[in-house]
Parts: sequence; structure tokens; C-alpha cells
Amino acid sequence: MITSHNLGFPRIGAERELKFAQETYWKGQSSLADLKAVGAELRRQNWQTQASLDLVPVGDFAFYDQMLDMSFTLGNLPERVRGYEGDLLDNYFRVARGRSAPQAMGSNPEGVAAGEMTKWFDTNYHYIVPEFTAGSEFKLDAARLVDQIREAKAVGVNVKPVIVGPVTYLALGKAKDDSDNLALLPKLLTVYQQLLETVANEGCEWIQVDESILVTELESAWQKAFETAYQALSTSKVKILLTTYFGPLLANLPLVAALPVAGVHLDAANAREEVATLIQKLPADRVLSLGVINGRNIWKTDLNGLLDWLEPIAKQLGDRLWIAPSCSLLHVPVDLDSEKKLDGEIKSWLAFAKQKLEELRVVKQALAGGRGSVEAELKANQAAIASRRQSLRVNNPAVKAAVAKIDAKLGERKSEFPKRAEKQAAILKLPKFPTTTIGSFPQTADIRRARNQFKAGKIDETSYTAAMENEIARCVREQEALGLDVFVHGEAERNDMVEYFGEQLDGYAFSEFGWVQSYGSRCVKPPILFGDISRPKPMTVRWIKYAQSLTKKPMKGMLTGPVTILNWSFVRDDQPRSVSCKQIALAIRDEVLDLEKAGVQVIQIDEAALREGLPLRRFQWKEYLDWAVESFRIAANGVSDSTQIHTHMCYSEFNDIIEAIAQMDADAITIETSRSDMELLEAFETFKYPNDIGPGVYDIHSPNIPTEKHIVGLMQKAAERIPAERLWVNPDCGLKTRQWEEVIPALTNMVAAAKTLRVTT
Ligand code: GLN
Ligand code: ZN
Repeated sequence: MITSHNLGFPRIGAERELKFAQETYWKGQSSLADLKAVGAELRRQNWQTQASLDLVPVGDFAFYDQMLDMSFTLGNLPERVRGYEGDLLDNYFRVARGRSAPQAMGSNPEGVAAGEMTKWFDTNYHYIVPEFTAGSEFKLDAARLVDQIREAKAVGVNVKPVIVGPVTYLALGKAKDDSDNLALLPKLLTVYQQLLETVANEGCEWIQVDESILVTELESAWQKAFETAYQALSTSKVKILLTTYFGPLLANLPLVAALPVAGVHLDAANAREEVATLIQKLPADRVLSLGVINGRNIWKTDLNGLLDWLEPIAKQLGDRLWIAPSCSLLHVPVDLDSEKKLDGEIKSWLAFAKQKLEELRVVKQALAGGRGSVEAELKANQAAIASRRQSLRVNNPAVKAAVAKIDAKLGERKSEFPKRAEKQAAILKLPKFPTTTIGSFPQTADIRRARNQFKAGKIDETSYTAAMENEIARCVREQEALGLDVFVHGEAERNDMVEYFGEQLDGYAFSEFGWVQSYGSRCVKPPILFGDISRPKPMTVRWIKYAQSLTKKPMKGMLTGPVTILNWSFVRDDQPRSVSCKQIALAIRDEVLDLEKAGVQVIQIDEAALREGLPLRRFQWKEYLDWAVESFRIAANGVSDSTQIHTHMCYSEFNDIIEAIAQMDADAITIETSRSDMELLEAFETFKYPNDIGPGVYDIHSPNIPTEKHIVGLMQKAAERIPAERLWVNPDCGLKTRQWEEVIPALTNMVAAAKTLRVTT
């Protein structure tokens, strides 16, 4: 009999119950017992939802992050949070976010430095980075896992605990003293051995050990670490399912096949081509788990197509075959059934976590009892797949023709930067060290209230527009008073920088409850890109025109770039991402040209998510960057020489992408730098980046107000690396999460600093 299982289930709850429970607790409005009860209830529901599976994951739930749970299980707590009394969960929140609920902070109300957070592989999920030093010691604390194993057993499901594997744990952690993480492996393995022992004593037959680092390039020392680690763990009584996901194993495949584990899980949605080789290389007593349902997208699986491929494999492998989603379902929303407003046709093409498990049940049944035993389900699936393939809402011949017509010239500016800069300077007449902001101004409670009322039908469009224009007018007045040089309209009318555009583009759909955990209690609701993208009408022009009508200063048109729109959406699986990106690029290009026609002199196209789209494997970077840069160029570069194009990127690692940034050829780029003390300008300096740069001088993630002196100091450092005549003065990022009371003094200091710099530098 084939075994079906799951690698992990979303923990946030279908209506984000966990988020609300966390946040109420952190605000001091509920007790720890309340929070724990919500967690227990979510786990219970999740196990029940998964009850049709032969093995159900346990330990995938976390009150903040599974990696942080692992750190606590291993007793790997940063020094600064040791010695606290009270509940362990409060200490856990200290590491996660610097503090727990006020009532739990005791003698340390200020909290501690939170653990660093970074992206989990190429997903939008963020984990808390484990911290190491040469002297790190580990000590097993299996209580959380053991309790959950017992809870799950009480629900009546077949338990398979899930843990992060030792090598991935070390590889994703950071040595604070620059010591070698790998040197800790022997100590760490002792604790993992104890952990496996504990799990075996709880009566578990299998344990899922996630080693997703195996889908990246590994140096030989790390390959060797896998051999050492799994040799050491092979004596355990519990059987290990070594789990990899998010891509193919490539050069690591022989290594994986040879490890002394009881089974291996491969992401067969992204590495189907490796299945045959793995079967051939895997010893005959090993289980092979195939991740056949894509855990990263929201599309229905073509079940008949899958079965055509899978049936012969099932025959060949018999009991040795396990089936599962490709990765944890953490990365998809919980339940499509919650969606009541979604267009019926589009909804029929989708599957969220719950629906993906139902697909798995059907596949298992078809393999066990023949396709005839699930005839109705397969028929319905086939109809949905066919409807999506043929739908005119998906396929727009005009868009396909426009993409086919793209040539190298489309993304080219008329002249080189120096010539453009001259023409722009003649029109804009900006001072040295021009000041500007990144786009958004505070999204006040008034703005959000007006939008909610409008969405709920409580106010009409005219009143909503008036309310937004009011905000824009205020924003212009404030900038006038501050004396900034290039203005923005403030983005009051935008809920989110991607959703706002998605809502106005054809080919996009929106869910009501399609939330996915990003980090801690933060969830995102990526729009669903389902069809060929087109722009029925201008999206931003009227707001920018209105804002421009209120001032003589240049008003920046503000757009989100194609790569960012793509990277923050659920994308199509029926065409390459590069094609979807170019379609979006053409739509944004039309908007850019309409803004230009409306007299807008400066247009900013944000590419906040360009870097995070880099593939997991370095050898694929060039291909990605090529089409990403081309998409930006298509969007931006249709303008005349005298129109100034800005772009913005809010992160601080540019070494890997500096060449791509130069190819984008924006007249000015604003970036996040204030925390790095201008050191990251080194990438621009070394590369001799030729165009204008605005290194951020105001850390907008902090409530602190930078002083004039501090800003002058930062800019002087910048001027040591970049010629002063090409420097702009601006904050790190948009100001929407800040308060006006913070923004005004901070920008006052920024403008004062620019004035000082003009006379001293
Ligand atoms: N223009 C956007 C804003 O100011 C940019 C946001 C971002 O880069 N994340 O809000
Ligand atoms: Zn930003």
C-alpha cells in the first residue's frame, strides 16, 4: 500500500486566528493560557483536517517560527536571553521579537535585541536565524515536541514528527564570532541523537528530518557533514525520512541516495526529471517519497496527467512509494472554501492547502483502487483543468502578440545617461544634493477608515476620492513647508504597492482569506495572477495630475515595477515567469507613457522585490537577472530623454546585482543604507556605477529621528565613495508605517542637512 503524508500545514488558521491571538497577548490583552489554548485548538483542527493521510506532521506548528522552535528544542538560546525566569514561551518571544507581553517583561521592560530574521530559501517566509559562537553548547528540550506528539495521538492520527535537520540547522545559522559553524556538528549530533531516542520512545515509527539545504550548491565540507551526521543518526530506532524540497538535488543527488536513512523525500513538482535517477540509485530497501502536489502555488493539479506519469512508478516501487505535497503547505493559504466572493470560474481552477490534501487523497485512491474508483473526482478535475486551459480570460491573443513583438530596442533609452542628465537638469533645475522621499507618507487611521468604508459601500466613490484628495493636498502642503525638492503624492489611495496595481490590471484575481504567513504574526495575501496581463485604463495618472496641480515643484509619478509585482504574486504555472513579467512590463510601460503625456517629469518605478527573486542556484541567476532587467527596461525606458526615471530598492545587499542595476539604467536609484553607515555604497563605488544614487539617510523602520548632524555625516561618507553631484538625499524607504509627528522632524533635519551639504561639500 502506498503511504500518503504531509510535510507541514499552515499554522495561522483559516481566519488568521493565530495572528490575532499572538497580537492580543503581546499587547497585554490576554493571558498566556489564552494564547496557548488557541495554539492547541489550531493544532487539533489541523490534524483533523489531515486525518485522511496515513501520516500527519507533528511539530510543524510554531508560535512564531519553526526554526526558532528548533533552536529552543536544541537549547541553543542566545546568551542575552538566558537566565530569565517565567514561561519559556515568553523567552521565545524575546528572541523572536525582542520582547514578550508587557506583563511578562518583569524587570526588563525594554526588552532585548531580537534575533535576526531572514528569508527561508526562495520563499516569502522568514525564519529567525540561529546564533552560534565557537563555544555554543546544546541541551535537549524535547518537551514541546513530546507534548504535541501526545496531543496528536489523542486526536487519533498517525504521528510523524517533523524537525529541521542538523546540517540545514547549522548551514542557516550565523556564527556571531566568525567561528566555523561546522565545528559544532559533533556536539549538535549528540543532542539530535537524544531527540530521535525521545521520539522513538514516544512510539513514533518515522521522523521527518528537513534538509532543504540539499537543493543548494554545497561545498565538500558540507557534503561531508551530511555523511557524518546521518551515519551518527542511523543507529536510532526511529526511521528517518530525509526531506528535501524547493528544487532538484543536482550534484547532491548521489550523496542523498547514499545516506543511511530509511527514506528520502524529493520535490517531484520541481524535480520530476530526477525521479528516475533517484529510483535507480536508491538502495532497494529505501522508501521514496515523492512531492507530487505543488506546495508553492495555488493551482489545481492536473490529476490525470500526474497519474499518467505516476502509475508506472507506483507499480515499480509498490509499498516503497510515498506521496505528499512537494513541500510544507505553509506557503499556501488554508482553505479555498472560505472564499465567497471569488469569481466562480477562477475559483474552480484553484486549490489551497485543504484542497491540495484532497487531491492527494484522490491520487492515492486512484493508485490503490484504479482511476475508476475516483471517477467523479477525476472527471471534475479534468473539467477544471480544461476550462482553465481554454479560457479566454486566461488567453488574450493581443497580449501574446505584443509580447512576441518585444525587441531589444523597446527597452532602450534614446540617449546615454550624461546627455539625458543634461536635458533633465535644464528642465528640473534641481540644487546639488536634491531632496526627495520614496513615495508613501503616513497611512493614517483616517485614510484606512475611509478606504474600509468605501469597500464596505458605506461611502460612495465621490466622497472617497474627495477624502484621498484631501490627504494628497495635505501631503503637498507639508512637503512645501519642509522645502523638499522633488515631491510625491503620498500614496494615500494605495492599500498595498502590488495589490493596488493588480486590482486595476486584467488577468489578476484577489482572495479574501488567501493569507500566507510571512513572519511571526505578519501575513501577506498575494494577488493571483491567472491570465494574460493587460491594462484597461490608466491607473495612477489622475492622482498624480491632481497632486501636480497643487505645486510648482516636480511631482514624481509613483509606480511599482513589473518584477516586484510578479515576485509578490501567486504566479501562473502554465507559462514561464519571464513571460508573465514581460506582460506586466508592457502594462506598466503604457502607464509610464501616459504619465509622461500628462506632463509628469519624474517617474519612479519601485523594484523592491528584484533581489529576492534570485533563484536558489547561482548558475540560474544570470537568466533571471536578464529577464528581470529587460522587464524593467521595457517598463521604464520608452520615455524621452528629458523625463527622469527613478527606481527604488529597499534592502542592502547589492554586490550580487550591481551589474544588473546598472543595466536597468534608471536616472536615479534610491536605496536603503542608513543602518550600514554607507558601507554598502562600496558595491556602487567599485563598480563605478554611473547614474545618480540616493543612499537612505533616515531609517524608517525605527521611531528614532535622525539629527541633521547625523545625516550630514552619512552623506559626507557617501560623498567619499560617489561624486557629490550624483548624490540625492532621501529616507531609506516609504514613510507609510510612520506617524506624521515623526516624519516632520526627521525630514526637517534631512532638508537642513542637504542645505548644509550644499555649502560645505
Ligand atoms: N513607493 C513605495 C513606498 O514609499 C515603496 C515601498 C517599498 O519599497 N517597499 O511606500
Ligand atoms: Zn523601500
